[in-house]
Amino acid sequence: NEVVSFQSVDKVYNTGIVALCQFDLSIQEGEFVSFLGPSGCGKSTALRIVAGLGEATRGKVEVFGQNPKDVITKSNDIAFVFQEANLLPWRTVLDNVLLPLELRGLDKAKRKESAIRVLEMVGLKDYLKAYPRQLSGGMKMRVSIARALAAKPKMLLMDEPFAALDEMTRQTLQKDLLDIWKKEKTTILFVTHNVYEAVYLSSKIAVMSARPGRLSTVIDVDLPYL
Ligand code: ADP
Ligand code: ADP
Repeated sequence: NEVVSFQSVDKVYNTGIVALCQFDLSIQEGEFVSFLGPSGCGKSTALRIVAGLGEATRGKVEVFGQNPKDVITKSNDIAFVFQEANLLPWRTVLDNVLLPLELRGLDKAKRKESAIRVLEMVGLKDYLKAYPRQLSGGMKMRVSIARALAAKPKMLLMDEPFAALDEMTRQTLQKDLLDIWKKEKTTILFVTHNVYEAVYLSSKIAVMSARPGRLSTVIDVDLPYL
């Protein structure tokens, strides 16, 4: 069941920089796909187009069989996690995770139940009332992941989510992310320039080359290692 497709996609920014060139990729439901390549090769650009945050210059992109812009505005099927946790400092952990649910107007008791469920999943159920400043970098990233998962998205987009973390924290979070992926069966698109991260985490690796925006090869990894 195909959930994302890039067909001969070019992305040229108005500066003239070519970020994607004849990019072709097909992603199936439930896959954990890493976009791997050197800085500047176009990984974030590809992810942002899937998220509806940018448009292809040429070619065709479909997400759930639709134009990404329509998907993002009409549903909560896609959630994005960035390198920075981007939490609201004046809101508690619980309230940060509740925010996207509030914006969608779900029933109040249901919202709280969903928020607590995902905070439990990332190991933070004892920190519901804590404020972001009281948390370590790894814990903030956990909150950010919980917030993304709260509305049960079908697809999780992650742009170097662990890049700012120390090695130990990163390893724990990688393991936890894999557990979440197996449990929730969410499709994950994961941007990284870290070869080990791609190899250990993904079920598929889209290797991009430093030649502007080219996809070098796609590697199927039968099972993630961790
Ligand atoms: P990566 O995520 O692999 O580091 P990016 O997709 O961020 O790569 O960037 C690919 C290329 O496009 C880079 O040369 C970058 O400088 C350029 N680029 C990214 N975003 C923009 C933008 N908004 N405007 C102009 N150029 C951009
Ligand atoms: P990353 O490598 O983590 O993707 P970047 O530094 O490429 O991050 O991009 C960070 C932000 O800056 C993005 O919003 C991107 O669109 C913008 N950006 C990146 N390169 C350029 C550029 N050459 N000109 C204008 N904006 C850019």
